[in-house]
Order: sequence, then C-alpha cells, then structure tokens
Amino acid sequence: MKPVYTHPNLFFVTNAKNILQHYSIKAIIQHEYLSGAAGDLAPIDTWPELWLVDEADYPRAKTLLDEAFNEQNADDWHCSRCGENNDAAFELCWQCGQDRDPSL
Ligand SMILES: [Zn+2]
Repeated sequence: MKPVYTHPNLFFVTNAKNILQHYSIKAIIQHEYLSGAAGDLAPIDTWPELWLVDEADYPRAKTLLDEAFNEQNADDWHCSRCGENNDAAFELCWQCGQDRDPSL
C-alpha cells in the first residue's frame, strides 16, 4: 500500500480513484469520513487520501494523475446546468454533479 494522491476535497480524490480504475489500477480511499474530526486533528490529517493497493503501480499511477490534473485549460468545459468552469479531467461538474454532456 502506498499513497499516491491527496486533496482536501473528497470529490477530487474520488475522481483520481476513478481515473486509476479506468486503467485497471486498484486504489482505495483512506480518511474518507474523517472530515468531521477536523477539530481534533491537524487539518492535513483529515484529508482523504488515495492509496495504491499494489505499490508497483505507483510510477504509472503518478503519471496518469499528473497528466489528468495538469491538463488544465486544454479542454476545460462549462457546466450546462450551473455554468461552473470544470477541468478537462472531470466527467461531472464539481459544483453540482451534472454530467459533462447530458445528452450522452
Ligand atoms: Zn454544474
């Protein structure tokens, strides 16, 4: 087990997990429900973390996530429901959860 990604917003961590899943890389989310304990722990300790089941996947997983999260502005899209600007890596609006293309 090895951590590969963390973010204070669980939505981003879940998205990272979905990306890896798409490439058949097994990963699990830790601290998914810890945010309620933020008063007792250092805030960073409550961030959801994405852990690789197989450490051998790390270089590939890291590359995939770097590519997914660094391709900003390349193919950003606007939500048809709420108008939010979303990163190309996301299939759902991070603001309201609307599908990227509701007609599909
Ligand atoms: Zn939206």
